[in-house]
Amino acid sequence: MSQVKEYSVEEKLFSLITLQKVNSKLDGIQILKGELPIEVSDLEDEIAGLHARQQRIEEEINGMQQFINDKNQTIKDAGELIKKYEKQSENVKNNREFEAINKEMEMQSLEIKLAEKHIKDATEDIGEKGKQLELAKKAVATKETNLKAKKSELEKIIEETDKEEKHYTKMADDAREKVDERLLISYDRIRKNYRNGLAVVPVERDSCGGCYNAIPPQKQSDIKQRKKIIVCENCGRIIVDDELNDSVEVS
Ligand SMILES: [Zn+2]
Repeated sequence: MSQVKEYSVEEKLFSLITLQKVNSKLDGIQILKGELPIEVSDLEDEIAGLHARQQRIEEEINGMQQFINDKNQTIKDAGELIKKYEKQSENVKNNREFEAINKEMEMQSLEIKLAEKHIKDATEDIGEKGKQLELAKKAVATKETNLKAKKSELEKIIEETDKEEKHYTKMADDAREKVDERLLISYDRIRKNYRNGLAVVPVERDSCGGCYNAIPPQKQSDIKQRKKIIVCENCGRIIVDDELNDSVEVS
């Protein structure tokens, strides 16, 4: 505490602005990191879903192929039966027997026609499924390319931000040391209250840079004097003059 008291209000304001800018940089890194891992895992889920779909279509095609094989067997069997009946019809004993054989042969011909129709329909279905399969494969390929790009982007960001994060965290610690405890508590509290994480804002066009509430001229000149910490009466953020704010560069 005694150390902290050595700093003037202007110096404290300077440290607060630094802290704010550093924290905003760290927030930006978190946002970058926060979205990419989700995008990557979403893509992985989508690809797994597409693979499952591809597999399902392939199984359906196999099933239909099996169905066609069965129908071809039916045609073969019926053909053999017809041949057998043809032979039998050569030595029929009476008209009744002849008609009975003829009826069987007719039934087998119908069986063949029906099987041929089923084969034709199934072949068309296979063609349709084949198109779906191609589309699914293309979709997988596109997503995989996308995934690869996102993954390497994420790795790069992690690699880069690791250094930046350490650098900014150190800067934030240094800045915090130059601000007294009470001020830090309110700084942290205000930051937590706002989604954009801004607790220290400059005057912007005669208004609070956080909530755009107008600041009376007297208060603006107080802010410019940098003799005391001034907060926005509307949003509670610490307001600094834009010149001081612009003088702080964080890199
Ligand atoms: Zn405000």
